[in-house]
Amino acid sequence: MSALVVIGARTPDGATVGLRCAPDGTIGDLGPDVSAAPGEETLDAGGQVLVPPLVNGHTHAAMTLFRGSGGDLPLMPWLEDRIWPVEARLDDEDVYWGTRLACLEMIRSGTARFWDMYWHPEATARAVADAGMRASIGAPFFDKGRDVAAMRTEAVEHLDALSAVGGLVDPALAPHSIYMVSEGSLRFIAELSAEREAPVQIHLSETKPEVDDCIGEHGLRPAAYLDELGLLTERTVLAHGVWLDDEELDLIAARRATIVSNPAANMKLAVGKIFDYPSARAAGVRVGLGTDGAGSNDSLDLLADLKLFALAQRHAASDATAISVDDAWAIATGAKAPLLGATPLEVGASADFVLLDPNAPELAIGDLLADLVYAADRTAVDTVVVAGRVLMRGGEQPERDEVVAKARERAKRLGL
Ligand SMILES: [Zn+2]
Repeated sequence: MSALVVIGARTPDGATVGLRCAPDGTIGDLGPDVSAAPGEETLDAGGQVLVPPLVNGHTHAAMTLFRGSGGDLPLMPWLEDRIWPVEARLDDEDVYWGTRLACLEMIRSGTARFWDMYWHPEATARAVADAGMRASIGAPFFDKGRDVAAMRTEAVEHLDALSAVGGLVDPALAPHSIYMVSEGSLRFIAELSAEREAPVQIHLSETKPEVDDCIGEHGLRPAAYLDELGLLTERTVLAHGVWLDDEELDLIAARRATIVSNPAANMKLAVGKIFDYPSARAAGVRVGLGTDGAGSNDSLDLLADLKLFALAQRHAASDATAISVDDAWAIATGAKAPLLGATPLEVGASADFVLLDPNAPELAIGDLLADLVYAADRTAVDTVVVAGRVLMRGGEQPERDEVVAKARERAKRLGL
């Protein structure tokens, strides 16, 4: 089959544009003069708007299975009574179908790539490959109360297995947090990351007690503690960063690490503060946006969380200029954090893109990016293409009903 050619699309500025995918899944040609030759697989965009896809910088994809379960409980009873006992019974098929459900939702909101941390990561990788998305996947590492040597061996085995997947799946390391992983194991992960050039995903500075405990135990704030262990590098993705102070933001910027803000999950879990984007921007920190898992959000619609992120920034700063529309959109598409793996719309980059319905009422009038940030929801997303493969067209996802039925079955099996 020939590679896909898109004709009759428009740029956000209104110019006509076409795009030819190369057989290797990259963009072979892009511009006003691209046209389809007879026999080529052609997608007539009919005036739809071509934009880059979103990058979800922090997820626990298979937690879709836990959606709507115990969400009104306080954090610890929720984890101890509802989440952890069920997670202990999860198998590969549960994680596979939970992740497939997550991929359906993410594709529907224009997301091409996500960063995931969850149990049975090889099953996550299989689901991502079958769904046609991209992901950086890490096995969660907790060693508090566990056999440390066995956890470290497993971490290397998971990294090897995830490295072998190839295609659109990238391996990562995923120490859960500074409070669930010992100092020795955090150093071990730092060395493994340097040796294998593997990125590291870690929750950091999500709650105030985490900061207070870190100062109490180590005499350092969380970012300084990570830095001392060699774990604050340009390969590090810090999820949350809600309670970081200015000195920590300067350190994170100097080390070129990335912070992924998860405003919906932070509000739902009532962490008491908003990630300080204006200070992070002033410090020069690389910033991305994430949904976190469906257990604590509960949606994986990053377009919805983009609005929440921008509103929360303006509200918390008492300043309507706290974040511009251009900055907000760049953050959601991963353009403000090179590690997150955004794919720009340019020749030679991966053929990942979204076509928006220009007649969606929310996009019909005014500046397109402003409409996308503050007015649109996922129903404006018509088509999603990743690596030259059409994952959704006209809002249709051919495997939707099967995936929903299978995921429902797995949740029922788990008593959720
Ligand atoms: Zn998380």
